This record gives sequence, structure tokens and C-alpha cells, in this order.
Amino acid sequence: MRCLFCKKESTTSKSVEHIIPESLGNLSHILPKGVVCDNCNNYFARKVEKPFLELPAMTILRFNQMVPNKRGSTPPVSGFLMPSKCPVVLQNHLKASTISVEVPDEVFESLRNSNKMSVILPTEAPLPESPIVSRFLSKVAIEAMALKLVDHPKGLEYIVDEKQLDPIRNHARYGQNIEWPYHSRRIYDANKGWRNKTGKNIQVVHEFDIFKTEDGEYYFVICIFGLEFSINYSGPEIEGYIKWLKNHNDTSPLYSRKNPKGNYHSEITSHEYL
Ligand SMILES: [Zn+2]
Repeated sequence: MRCLFCKKESTTSKSVEHIIPESLGNLSHILPKGVVCDNCNNYFARKVEKPFLELPAMTILRFNQMVPNKRGSTPPVSGFLMPSKCPVVLQNHLKASTISVEVPDEVFESLRNSNKMSVILPTEAPLPESPIVSRFLSKVAIEAMALKLVDHPKGLEYIVDEKQLDPIRNHARYGQNIEWPYHSRRIYDANKGWRNKTGKNIQVVHEFDIFKTEDGEYYFVICIFGLEFSINYSGPEIEGYIKWLKNHNDTSPLYSRKNPKGNYHSEITSHEYL
């Protein structure tokens, strides 16, 4: 067995690989031991996933959607106390169903005399055009392809040996090609409720797919709480996706039914810890 990223022998590796971090609510999309070697697994956790999860856009999302990390907590976020506009830190205590507000000492005194105050919470933060996001998406894109092919004989071998995947693989693992543009937009509200096949009310935590444009380009598309990201497997260009959207009334490929072979597949995970 060889690792998807460094291509080194990985038969003795001990870690399974979460395609999307557990701290983003992924409990189901996991690659078996050795598909990604322990070295690459550790590297991604520290240098790619952690910085991505710490982006304000992601900490606010995890806080607001109450997505716990492995230790069962969400990250703290910054808010404002009104009317003083004093910055405060908010912490969500999931098990106790409470939110605490950390107020600086000097402000605390003045609060004793006020009979009304409110806390302003951020609802969303912009995503930076930076390698933090594109390297994260590249890593997830390669692993999503592996998930599709993991049960096919020679499927993983194909991904490891496919030279056309080397640029995106090396962008994820080694940061090569410093700029790799991606496309992002909100396609539905983060709080949107859905009903699954068994009639249960759910929220979609994430869904993803690989799709091919009419021009023959392959894209990876993932939606996390309604925030859609797309990245091109074949090179640091996104124009083909923008063109595809224009020709398909801006419908997400995750929801398009125009694919002639009908092989789009959305993975939906119910947000069961809510
Ligand atoms: Zn490796």
C-alpha cells in the first residue's frame, strides 16, 4: 500500500484518515489505515486542517452550529457588548446548553450600574483567498476521489500513480503552487432544515461530489453548512467552473440533475448531535 500524498509505502500506518475533520462534524467519511500514511495524516492535522478550522469563518460557523471538536467543545468567538461596544469572548457550553460571556474586569464594574445590555454575535466571516483554504480543499478533493475508488481494484493505485493529479496533490501536501484559486458562495442558509428519507428532520453538515464539465474538466465541489466550495483537479484555474455555472443558471452541481449519466452523488450527514 502506498500513501495518496507522499507515495511512500504505508502498509504499517496506524491512523485512519477523516476526509473532513471531526471538528467539522464528520463522523462518517473516513479512509482506512494506510491510504494516507501516518506522517501525512499528522502533517495535515497540524499544518492544513488546524489553520483552516481556526479561520474566523470556521470558528464562527462551529460556534453558531454547535459543532463539537473531539473533546466535545466548540471554539470561543469574539463578540461585542452593547451599548459600550466592549469586545468580549463567548464560549458555548454544549452539555450545559449555556453560553458564557467573558468580560474584562474594568468593564465588569461599569456593568453593575447598567440595567440593560446585550451581546452582539458574529453570524459569518469572509473567507480569505489564501493557501489555507485551497490546500485544505485540495487535500479533501484527493481524499474524496479515494473514497469513491477505495473498493475498486487498482482504484487507489490509479490515484497514486496519476501524474495529472500531482499538482493538486503537491499543493495540498507541500504547498506547491502558492496560489490555487477556488470558488466559494453560499447556496443555502446554514440553519436550513431538511427531511431525510425516513422522514427525520436533519441539517446537512456537509455534502460533496466530483463532477466533470462539458469541457472535460474535473471539479471537486463540497458544501459545508450551505457554504459551497469548488476546486479544479487539473490545475490552478477556476474559469471553467464559472463558465459552467453561467450555463446552468448558477445551480450547484450538487443539485443539478442535468448530468447525462446521472452520476452525481451527494453525501448527506444528519446533524444528530443537535
Ligand atoms: Zn504520506
